[in-house]
Amino acid sequence: MTAPRKIRVATASLAGCFGCHMAFLDIDEHLLELAGQVEFDRSPLTDIKDVGPCDVGLIEGGVCNAENVHVLRAFRRQCKTLVAMGACAINGGLPAQRNHLSVADCLREVYQFRPGLADGRIPDDPELPLPLDKVRPLHEVVRVDYFLPGCPPSGAAVWKFLSDLLAGRTPRLTGALLHYD
Ligand code: SF4
Repeated sequence: MTAPRKIRVATASLAGCFGCHMAFLDIDEHLLELAGQVEFDRSPLTDIKDVGPCDVGLIEGGVCNAENVHVLRAFRRQCKTLVAMGACAINGGLPAQRNHLSVADCLREVYQFRPGLADGRIPDDPELPLPLDKVRPLHEVVRVDYFLPGCPPSGAAVWKFLSDLLAGRTPRLTGALLHYD
């Protein structure tokens, strides 16, 4: 008898702080259970650079630059189910605090007016991804299937959400598992 196919999961952090990935690791002993059911594709947990065909994609962080758009679209193409994980992915979160300023003002403030920088030059290397005018939530760029709120969601919420998904159920968070801060 052949073993059942493992569910393929990819994760990415766009304009986020990796706090949602830490919450993912906070599922503690369930990590072993998870390891028996899933295999990871592109993720900070692996060294895979490009996302391949996956069952579930979990994305932390909002969309703040051209590279984020590229990564997000690749996840949408490759993942059957795409999850916006955490406040930044759902509404831009903390990085979206810059949205009331122009990109030029932000760059000038950081690179020209802050004391201690040598030549006050705004970096313009072609390898650097172009910043977007505003930090966008994921659903403004691609279709999103599920939203997992919290900054970050608790480990218990991440596990409930994932175990529902892996069992083929619509994820449902209630009570203390559902929070937005
Ligand atoms: Fe970090 Fe909170 Fe954004 Fe998650 S939602 S990436 S924890 S700031």
